[in-house]
Parts: sequence; C-alpha cells; structure tokens
Amino acid sequence: MQYFEWYMNCNQNLWNDIKENADKISETGVTAMWLPPAFKGIGGKDEVGYGAYDLYDLGEFDQKGTIKTKYGSKDEYLDAIVALKQAGIEVYPDIVLNHKMGADAIQTIPATKVDWSDHNKEISGNETVKVATKFTFPGRKGKYSDFVWNWTDFDGIDYNSATNENAIFKFKDKQWGTEVDEEFGNFDYLMGADLDFSNPRVIKECTDWGKWYLEFTGADGFRLDAVKHIRASFYRDWIKTLREQSKKELFSVGEYWSSDVNKLHKYITETDGEISLFDVPLHYNLYSASTDPDYDLSKIFDHTLVKENSSMAVTFVDNHDTQPGQALESFIQDWFKESAYAIILLRNTGYPCVFYGDYYGIEHDNIKPMENLKTLMLIRKEKSYGVQHDYFDYNSYVGWTQEGDEDHINSGLAVVISNAGDGFKRMFVGLQNAGEKYIDALGHCEDEVIIDEEGWGNFSVKGKSASVWVKE
Ligand code: CA
Repeated sequence: MQYFEWYMNCNQNLWNDIKENADKISETGVTAMWLPPAFKGIGGKDEVGYGAYDLYDLGEFDQKGTIKTKYGSKDEYLDAIVALKQAGIEVYPDIVLNHKMGADAIQTIPATKVDWSDHNKEISGNETVKVATKFTFPGRKGKYSDFVWNWTDFDGIDYNSATNENAIFKFKDKQWGTEVDEEFGNFDYLMGADLDFSNPRVIKECTDWGKWYLEFTGADGFRLDAVKHIRASFYRDWIKTLREQSKKELFSVGEYWSSDVNKLHKYITETDGEISLFDVPLHYNLYSASTDPDYDLSKIFDHTLVKENSSMAVTFVDNHDTQPGQALESFIQDWFKESAYAIILLRNTGYPCVFYGDYYGIEHDNIKPMENLKTLMLIRKEKSYGVQHDYFDYNSYVGWTQEGDEDHINSGLAVVISNAGDGFKRMFVGLQNAGEKYIDALGHCEDEVIIDEEGWGNFSVKGKSASVWVKE
C-alpha cells in the first residue's frame, strides 16, 4: 500500500499515525508499505518529499526551518518502521536520488544553456552562471557523513541566479547521462541540481548512503523515484551492492513513468531484472476505460507489463502524481474504481499497490474514501486463490473466476465488469464447486448464483459497475 497522498494534512504526525494503526492495516491484507520520502526537503515541514535536500536528515536536525519533516521526526519514523515490521508489514521507503534542491551556497561556474525541447541542443556558448549547487548541511554538522556536494557532482540545473533566468544549464565539460529516457532528446535532466551518475564520487556517496539508510532504518526494500532520469546501470549496480551487503531480498520497484511498455521492457533488460516497475501502461488503460464510454474492455491488459512480464509488474490504480491537481493527473473515475481495484487485487498476476487516497479519500478535493476497497482487499486476502479462468471475450462485459484452493476455506471468486448496461457472464468456477451458492460481495446484485453440476454459473452485473461473487 502507498501510504500517502499529495495533499494529506498529517500535521507532521504520519509516522505516529502509522505506528498506531499498523495492526489494523495488516488485518486488511496489506503485506508491504511504500512510505513517502523521509528525508528533509527544500519545503521543510510542507515538503511532500521529492524536493530532496539532505538525505541523512530524517527529521533530526534543524534545517529548512524545521526539525521534523512533513511526516514527523527521525525517532517517530524508526518507531513506525518497527511497528510495521511487528505487524508483519514490510517497509519500502521512497528514494529520491535524481536531484537535490535547496543548496546552502551559490557557486559561480561555467555552463552552457540547452533547449528545453531538446536537451542535446546547446543554445549558447559557455557563460558564467551562479547556481545553487553547494550542499554543506550546516544544521547536521557532519553527523553520519561529512560529504559536501559541489557543482562538479552535478551535471546541470534550471536556474541562474545571476540573471534570474529559468533555463536548463549544462555545466562545463559535463555530458547528460546515457541509458536514460529519450524524450526531449535526453531526459537525464528533470529538475533541481541533477546528480552526475558518471562521477565516481557521486556513485560512492549514493552507495554509502544506501548502506547507511538500510542499517539505520531496517527498511525491507525500496520505491525508486524517477528512474528514467538516471543511468539504468547505476541503480542496477546500487541495488546489487546493497543486496550483497545486507543479505536481504530488498524488493525494489522503480517509477519509470511511461505508457509505452517497450520502454519498461528495455529498462528491465538494462537493469538485469533487478528492479520491478510500476505498470504505468495498465494505469492508463484503466484511465481510458473510465473515461471512454466506448472502451473495449477485452483489451484492458493489452500492452501492459502485467500481461507481458507479470513477475516484474507492480500494478496500481492511482498514486500521488495521478491524483487531481498533480503533474500526471489521470485519476480513474469514480464509477470504474471498483472495477480497477478488482482488476489489480483479484487476479493471480502482478503485485498490487493500493493508494492511500482511494482508501482514506482525499480531503483536499472532497474525494470520499472508496466504500468497497477494504472489502476487495479482504477478498484478495481470503478468497483470491486457485486456478484462474479468463473471459475477456466481449467489449463491454468481461470477467474471470478463480476456483479457490484447499488451503483457504470457502475461497474462490467470480468477477464481472460492465461498462454498458446490466448483463451477465456464464463462467466456469470448477467442478468441485458444483451446487455452491455465490453472492455479490460488493452488494450491487441481490440475486444468488447456484453453480450447476458441471461447475458453471451465470454471474450478473449491473450497468457500469463490477460485481465480485463469492461463496455465501
Ligand atoms: Ca538525472
């Protein structure tokens, strides 16, 4: 579960909230939690986390106007992690290495301006610029690390304070990293002071920090931010080193934001399959299904990672970037949310991730919690087992069943989704279920389905909704 949304008003108290609720969250079937970036960012107490400033300050030092981060103090963070682990929940912190923001001093250096639309295209000669690239972390005073960042550890920035100019400046003798996304010619540069991952000093510091972070926090894995803007082999080597050193599995999922599944395949190849990826193509299919009344539901898994390389796919419906008002806004419409969650939670492939904003709602935008999300999570935990049969055979009505297995009493299910009117699908749930009575756990259909002697049932669905049929 992703345990935050962009606008959450947590009063620097998220870590305490997690600690208090760890057992309750575990009961819903959550087995791992993606926590927001825990280090001090440029925005101080209001920083969501992606404007990373000091990665060693987990809410411990008076920097950026606050000791605590938006989410709490270092000790509260460590306590929350302990509570989660005691509740049987693994912890995957959000790691932001691509860039830094909020430098402590300005440096005057030579740089070349490049074109916003083609980062490979230089549009000026060398000029002298003033850039925010010196990070000394005066509030931390060298605790944990005495590494000081300066401009040679970065390859570019988007602001020249000598002229108040917003433009991408590539530093003298620097090249953008290779093995990155190719949008804008080369998408190494995203924002802030962009780390130079061809610099051995930077690689060593990031690796040293990763080792420190693991030991200090006891994290079980990672959510890696903005991986398409970082040389693929850097993260490949980084995670391999940390796994060897910690002897832990360190499940890791990268945010490669692209709806093109081939780019995801390429990254997985470049990283030797060490890093799973969010199934962004599936997210966009779900979004299209929710917004296009003529969407062909039989194609919902076309060109998705969960279909083409399921063991590497972390499936999700929405996240802090796709929610209303955010950079990648593409929020799955309300009427399709149950269907979307059934699609990620109740199938035998993919590693699903539930979004905090769907579970608890998003107060900032008056979005209510999803009424049936907890029910769907519990069905995953208790009933989503056994051989699966797919019926993605009609454009406006699709479904699937799982037969259930002997290890889970009364397990098995049948899902039907409609983006048109009321209807039903005739589906096979297993001979062993002949004579069983199924009801709609989501409460949309009130009839009962009795499985015939050959193991088939007629499972109905209301228009523009999903029904999840389970044994009564
Ligand atoms: Ca970069």
